[in-house]
Amino acid sequence: MTAPTRTCIACGRKAEKNRLIRLVARDGRVCLDTRGTLPGRGAYVCAGGGCLERLARDRRGRLHRAFRGPVEPGDLVAAAEAQPAPRH
Ligand SMILES: [Zn+2]
Repeated sequence: MTAPTRTCIACGRKAEKNRLIRLVARDGRVCLDTRGTLPGRGAYVCAGGGCLERLARDRRGRLHRAFRGPVEPGDLVAAAEAQPAPRH
C-alpha cells in the first residue's frame, strides 16, 4: 500500500500526506492544522525546505487560489519564523 499523497501549494511537489502540514482557512485566516482535525477546506505545504516561509511571504496569490478567496497568512508567518533552517 502506498501512502496518500498531497501537493504542496508552495512548490507544487507531491509528498506523502504525513510529511506535509495541513492548512485550513478559518474566518479569512490561515491556521495550521497540526493535528489534522480542523474542519473546512484544507491545503498542504511541505513541513520543511522553506515552503512555509515562501507561502507566508507569498504575494502571488497561492493561498488565495488554494482557498478560493482572500485569506490572511495568519499563523503561517509565526510558524515560518519558528521553523529551523531547512536542511538538504
Ligand atoms: Zn513544498
